[in-house]
Amino acid sequence: FVNSIDEFFKYCEENDVQFVDLRFTDIKGAWHHLTYRMSAVNADNLTNGFPFDGSSIEAWQPINRSDMLLKADVPTAFLDPFTADPTIILFCDVYDIYKGEMYEKCPRSIAKKALKHAEELGIADAAYFGPENEFFIFDEVHFVDSINEAGYRVDSEEGEWNSNTRFEETYNTGHRPGTKGGYFPVAPTDSMVDLRAEMMMVLEQIGLEVTLGHHEVAQGQGEIGVVFSDIIGAADNVQKYKYVVKMVAHLNGKTATFMPKPLFGDNGNGMHTHQSLWKDGKNLFYKEGNYGNLSDTALNYVGGIFKHAKAVAAFTNASTNSYKRLIPGFEAPSILTFSSQNRSASCRIPYGAGEKATRIEMRFPDSTACPYLAFAVMMMAGLDGIKSKEVPVGPMDEDLFELTLDEIREKGIPQMPHTLREALEALIADNEFLKPVFTDEFITTYQHYKFERDVWPDEGRPTAYEFKTTYM
Ligand code: GLU
Ligand code: MG
Ligand code: MG
Repeated sequence: FVNSIDEFFKYCEENDVQFVDLRFTDIKGAWHHLTYRMSAVNADNLTNGFPFDGSSIEAWQPINRSDMLLKADVPTAFLDPFTADPTIILFCDVYDIYKGEMYEKCPRSIAKKALKHAEELGIADAAYFGPENEFFIFDEVHFVDSINEAGYRVDSEEGEWNSNTRFEETYNTGHRPGTKGGYFPVAPTDSMVDLRAEMMMVLEQIGLEVTLGHHEVAQGQGEIGVVFSDIIGAADNVQKYKYVVKMVAHLNGKTATFMPKPLFGDNGNGMHTHQSLWKDGKNLFYKEGNYGNLSDTALNYVGGIFKHAKAVAAFTNASTNSYKRLIPGFEAPSILTFSSQNRSASCRIPYGAGEKATRIEMRFPDSTACPYLAFAVMMMAGLDGIKSKEVPVGPMDEDLFELTLDEIREKGIPQMPHTLREALEALIADNEFLKPVFTDEFITTYQHYKFERDVWPDEGRPTAYEFKTTYM
């Protein structure tokens, strides 16, 4: 609602703003903040940047080159709905003062650069993204004991690890949703009605256009629909959405998690991402009469994402846990093909969309992705596919979860990687398509960081299930 620095100060005065909260995103997608007193904010630092120490953010600057600047994006200003004193939040980009340019490891700046690249190629002048971030609500105290919202023990008393179902068979759980029982009976089976309503109202208050909220398939799982936006706006919205969902849960004595697969044996949390490219006000993905009304450009875009999917996954499915979601049977895809309607395919073409709404929905991403990086990487892969006229396998309209491994191999259908290690190794081998936008330094840092922080510590840890299966 503020378009200039003058308007910003006017808005702050009208709303008696006491604090200016500067927010930026690191490479794993975490939102960080610094809170300035209103009196310390002026036209100069709003224009030229606010100093901060970049060395304490994981995988960023070394201690001997730690001074960085936060450049505020003034039109993103919105009032924090949760603070006791009026506080205005500003999205910021990170500026490298040594090089005198946008910081090469600032995800928001990378996404801006990716959009510019699409324009420079002459392919598109706008890219729209519609992410769908699913989440679980747990009782705060119970979460650590692996007891979910519905009160089920995830590991039963007998020490059986696969026991959600077993527990339900043994005890009368009343009105509570059983495994996969959340889609979507009314209250009291759905115990999150008021919680989601509050989330939706707050989201609207801070500028997101909300369409609907509903219980998801798993116990304690929910989703709120938000209208798509341009690449930066959509990623900014993901940060706002996660903030609001977690804060509203917290203020109600609950805790929210976007973890891809928090419960064994039930559905996981996705971040399906709807996408389309536009030029001169025209949807490049639309061609009436084709399969799903999809143009060749759209098919090539999908082909590009599939071609590079293993490397792309290092960004879109950025945790070791991500790959526990990508297994057959839970509406999360593992097979790289496309289909109109079919939710077992990695790419769904929403059925019957007209000229404006025709788009592709990538179903493999999850919320452990940094949204700026995930959108930029998918778009770079898609643009590469458009350039080389990549054709994806498909369409395949059958239930792909029914296919055996032998059939998948015989048909030559590519699959998503099965582990974060596989994705990161693919990224090392396949990153030319990112080069126009991502620096070598960034790609190297990213994969080292993910190996050190996620892969190696995980690979070295015995799991509960191994205690059951290992012959000791
Ligand atoms: N929760 C499913 C997933 O993991 C998606 C369910 C849906 O289609 O909305 O992707
Ligand atoms: Mg969903
Ligand atoms: Mg979806």
